[in-house]
Amino acid sequence: MSQPSYLQKHSSITRSRINNFIGDNQWGDVNLKSVIEYLRISGEPHVSLEVWSAPGQDRPTFEHASKQKYRPARVGESFGPSWTTHWFRVTVRIPKDFVGRSVRFEIDTSSEAMIWSTTGDPIMGLTGGGGRERHVDYLLTEKATAHEKPRQFYVEMACNQLFGNGDYHQRPQDRRIYYRLNMADLMSHNEPVLALYYDLQVINDMANRITEESPRSWQALSAANAIVNVFEHTDLSTVEPAREIARQFFKAQGGDSNHQVYAIGNCHIDTAWLWPFAETKRKAARSWSTQLQLMDIYPEYRFAASQAQQFEWLKENYPSLFGRIQDKAKTGQFIPLGATWVECDCNMPSGESLVRQFLLGQRFYKEHFGEISDIFWLPDTFGYASQLPQIVRLAGAKYFFTQKLSWNSINRFPNTTFRWVGLDGSHVLTHMAPANTYAAQCTPGELMDSVKRHKDLAYTNESLYLFGNGDGGGGPLRDMLERMRRMENLDGLPKVKQAHPREFYEHVDSTSKDLVAWKGELYFELHRGTYTSQAKNKLWNRQSEFVLRDVELLSTIAHTKDRQGFRYPSDELTRLWKLVCLNQFHDVIPGSSINMVYRDSDKIYKDVFDSAEKLRLRALDNIYGELPPLVASGDSGFAVLNTTTWMRTSIIAVPTPLAPAFTRQANADSLPVQVCDDGVVLAIAANVPGYAAQAIEPTTDGSAQFVPVRAYASKTDSSYVLENRHVRVTIDSNGQITSYYDHAAKRELVATAGNVFELYDDVPDYWDAWDIEIYSLEKYQTLTSGTVSISQEGPLVASLELKLDISEHSKLTQRISLSAISTRLDFDTEVDWHENRKCLKASFTWDILSDVATYETQFGVVQRPTHRNTSWDIAKFEVCAHKFADLSEFGYGVALLNDCKYGHATLGNKMSLSLLRAPKAPDEHCDMGMHRFRYAVYPHAGSFNESNVVQEAYQFNVPLQTLPYNMSALLGGGRELPLAQPCFSISGARNVVLDTVKLAEDDGNSFIVRMYEAYGGHARALLTTRLPADAVHKVNILEERVDDGAELSWMSHSKTVEVVFKPFEIVTLKFTF
Ligand SMILES: [Zn+2]
Repeated sequence: MSQPSYLQKHSSITRSRINNFIGDNQWGDVNLKSVIEYLRISGEPHVSLEVWSAPGQDRPTFEHASKQKYRPARVGESFGPSWTTHWFRVTVRIPKDFVGRSVRFEIDTSSEAMIWSTTGDPIMGLTGGGGRERHVDYLLTEKATAHEKPRQFYVEMACNQLFGNGDYHQRPQDRRIYYRLNMADLMSHNEPVLALYYDLQVINDMANRITEESPRSWQALSAANAIVNVFEHTDLSTVEPAREIARQFFKAQGGDSNHQVYAIGNCHIDTAWLWPFAETKRKAARSWSTQLQLMDIYPEYRFAASQAQQFEWLKENYPSLFGRIQDKAKTGQFIPLGATWVECDCNMPSGESLVRQFLLGQRFYKEHFGEISDIFWLPDTFGYASQLPQIVRLAGAKYFFTQKLSWNSINRFPNTTFRWVGLDGSHVLTHMAPANTYAAQCTPGELMDSVKRHKDLAYTNESLYLFGNGDGGGGPLRDMLERMRRMENLDGLPKVKQAHPREFYEHVDSTSKDLVAWKGELYFELHRGTYTSQAKNKLWNRQSEFVLRDVELLSTIAHTKDRQGFRYPSDELTRLWKLVCLNQFHDVIPGSSINMVYRDSDKIYKDVFDSAEKLRLRALDNIYGELPPLVASGDSGFAVLNTTTWMRTSIIAVPTPLAPAFTRQANADSLPVQVCDDGVVLAIAANVPGYAAQAIEPTTDGSAQFVPVRAYASKTDSSYVLENRHVRVTIDSNGQITSYYDHAAKRELVATAGNVFELYDDVPDYWDAWDIEIYSLEKYQTLTSGTVSISQEGPLVASLELKLDISEHSKLTQRISLSAISTRLDFDTEVDWHENRKCLKASFTWDILSDVATYETQFGVVQRPTHRNTSWDIAKFEVCAHKFADLSEFGYGVALLNDCKYGHATLGNKMSLSLLRAPKAPDEHCDMGMHRFRYAVYPHAGSFNESNVVQEAYQFNVPLQTLPYNMSALLGGGRELPLAQPCFSISGARNVVLDTVKLAEDDGNSFIVRMYEAYGGHARALLTTRLPADAVHKVNILEERVDDGAELSWMSHSKTVEVVFKPFEIVTLKFTF
């Protein structure tokens, strides 16, 4: 007989008792843990270890490593330094003590590792060291026999942990870490004791997490207490009665109205972050092979993995493992999903980049897994642009998953399951897992959070639950799946089942009442520094997007002109787009990775630029190849190519070999030309049609009387003036614009000053490279130690040169230029930057009144408030924009253009552009050194919608291309310049932009044209092409034919198609020839 229990009268003591019973603590010799193991054996002759260390930071293949000379190794040795690789050859001899039992090999290298078979098959990944990610056991046999033969296998030890080498993410990486081989043992569990341990983990957490008002909380505590009373560590026959108590507790099931959790295993693997791309290739193999093992043991187990790039790496480097994954995908246990090439950043990639993320991702899934993904999967990306719903739909997907907005620092996002409505009105069913994590541990508490934090239970009674260790990979472990089994249908908890996430979405779609909607961007209220950190990466991303755009256009023209002689470089362009998309991963382009990652991405961009230039010249050679190259001659014939859609007039540099002749001719004809100090000759390229080439001869800007631009010193103070026929700009000795007067509008644009350099304290709350914090705005100095001089005096371009000390360590040089032909003022800037936790901004305070500013986003614009009325407005104190931000009132506005910057702010009438930051972690060298970037001010008549800001921002990023051929012979001979007639032209809709021309995927007889409505209105555009074309169809971004009922009328005689656009619509056409 035992005494009655009074536990409700002393519940906290009882809770401690149970925690002690299952914990690693001072009671470890008498509690449940004391008998969880049956036997552990180490050392010779049962475990023999040999090692070979790879040289440097090499990551050799199995084939290479297994052929090397190994030396004896022992437990207790350390291996390193960071990022090196060590291969162990392990021989185990299972002694008779284990007969009839399951036997595990436990090896703890303190680091990440991989077990390989002697035939070169990757078997499973390991994570050494402490912590919840620890995974060190490899099941050798379920039942050892009396005649076990020695077994041999390899362990590939990587000298890094799940989170790289160092102090997680708040310090730079430590390159000198050595990892100790802590253990290499044979071990067998007391399986019933282990099972009781899992039982108690669940019951104990329920006792602690269920509110005391519920009887179920007391039932759990009671059951756990009874188990402790029954169990006797010296008598394992007590395990069965103890388990019986647990079984009785688990018998009580939930009711019909219980919340339903759809659980899915996953292991978020950042494609690069605190480790380089090369390590990610191994991480995917380690993490995913482990999951295949678990799938065999737990048939109910479902695991999802995203990022086509990681699958492609696996296919290349671990083909047998990839084949096993394909098999498990067929059975439905391994679920490839996500739709995109990598889990990309969604702030900075261009519209076309996002399209390519989906095109590459979906094509990979279709080819290797038989179907595209209908779920856009971004658990960890830093904000979601407003065009995504349309792009997701056009990519054949319809569901969206994230949870990152649970990290918002100011406002709690109000929805869990909702319709996300994009810029154009497209919507996707969106879910943000209410457990607020993608690395859940399978605990009752987390399941209860899935209900407690669900904000749309009135409309839908289900949620997704992502479990498994993540960020650095890892994934679910055995204990999670054991707890999951016990929680499937348990009174006191929501029901939980493992399922394909699609099952969740389809169920919600078909059963939910009217879900609420959220319109526009899903702005992430954190990590606002990622629009600015790692500035060169952002510059190269922007440039690579435009370079590939030109290459695809020119290659398409060459291909359609000469299909026999020119082969469209599909494979090479796919390769280059994959590289650009790779660098758009959500820790690379945001600037939140370690230094090693940026050294890799530098090389990747160099490859992109070098390869793209070869392709560009190859396509041009096909179009113009019969012409001689540009060499010095008495002739002045050259031509430029305009790869934007519209006619434009620009100032260009005359090719050096032709400059003397060109200058002579201009002077003889009294036409404007400008010889600069450095010998560069500037000329006007007037009225060059869109998508066409034009020969350049000395000319004027087309006005009745050419008016040169001038630079001169002010007569009244130390300022300088730049003045042309449109505007007069006054600039003081610090480079600040004190007056910007528009002659035609007769108005002064400056309220206080423009181009004011401000140096902010930039010490964020926690995440160094990631965050600019709101309080930084309270603490800054204005930089006023500048000198200005005149560097160019016209007649085509007048410039001032500003020299400004940012600090003792950093200097800025800026050329401020006004041309004769535009209201636009350009700032060509060089900064030698050596700061510590500072942010440099340029600000402009205009005499313009507007409650909203307009910012460019992918294929459109987004308006955001210029005031700070509500906490939602305040949170947007720093926002992302692409090529421009615009502040307009009725009748007039001004745009701030840039060639590589993304961090913007507008408060009242003050616009700011974030130029550089100086975080020290996780990359201690982030942004130190020389930078060159450009921005510009572009005043315009009319509000934004009446302006041509979209076009001007394009032109600022896409200069006219000088063709590298001498045109004199051709033009002298009266022959027409190739591409003199526009190969594409749009009429009837100045709000429509033609963005992309490329050859169709898998179809050499078709080309693709992608356009979008840029200002937010309807349009009826006539698109005419001079490329060969017999028919045209509307397609989605996977280039599959769609019939959305919209009008598309094709006039074959004029090769013109009329396309009707809705506001912000993206239209992709496939022309067949
Ligand atoms: Zn991530």
